[in-house]
Amino acid sequence: MSDLLRNLDAVQQRIAQASQLAGRAPGSVTLLAVSKTFPAEAVRAAYEAGQRAFGENYVQEALLKIEALADLRATLEWHFIGPLQSNKTRVVAEHFDWVHSVERLKIAQRLSEQRPSVLAPLNVCLQVNVSGEASKSGVTPDQAAALAHQIAALPRLRLRGLMAIPEAASSSAAQRAPHHQLHALFERLRTDGLALDTLSMGMSADLEAAVLEGSTIVRIGTAIFGARDYSH
Ligand SMILES: *Cc1c(COP(=O)(O)O)cnc(C)c1O
Repeated sequence: MSDLLRNLDAVQQRIAQASQLAGRAPGSVTLLAVSKTFPAEAVRAAYEAGQRAFGENYVQEALLKIEALADLRATLEWHFIGPLQSNKTRVVAEHFDWVHSVERLKIAQRLSEQRPSVLAPLNVCLQVNVSGEASKSGVTPDQAAALAHQIAALPRLRLRGLMAIPEAASSSAAQRAPHHQLHALFERLRTDGLALDTLSMGMSADLEAAVLEGSTIVRIGTAIFGARDYSH
């Protein structure tokens, strides 16, 4: 078995074990394979092993892969998970199925206006900065409700839930705290009338903590594709 297939298998087992520990139904967590910096051939190999959802951070890089894998497009999902500038919204609205990193109304409005009418509404998550670090992207938990209601009203978007990239932490308790906070915010917004079904949280290092706290999409790069090389 190749490293990629072994890694995919190991990640699926981590998800299954954490789900079982959490008393959650098998299959209630979707694995998003984060393929940034890895070539289209790696995505194709993961696809052939059964993986269907892929996450990308950089628009130009993603477009090349989407093009190279056009033959799989009908059965593969592309999720945009990186910072999004307003001059890139059109290509994202035209080529992706999901955007996890919405944090400004202006970006959401552009995505809604630019989503082609022949496609289903674009699935989006609101990115929340649960750790409160100044350098991190995302709205504060206090700002989330107002923005979520505005985004939910946009015609060509479907607000699915919340996304966070918590500060790295090594203990399980420290990893679980921000995920717990995001889940609590998610439940508040649902009580408030928003039909949300997605908590995008958990990466290679904190997948278990995220699943224990209710994640529905884990975004896993390194544990599937290996360490990233940004040198070229
Ligand atoms: C790169 C990235 C990931 C994957 O991180 P790993 O630690 O490699 O699993 C997940 N989410 C976002 C937003 C990312 O940018």
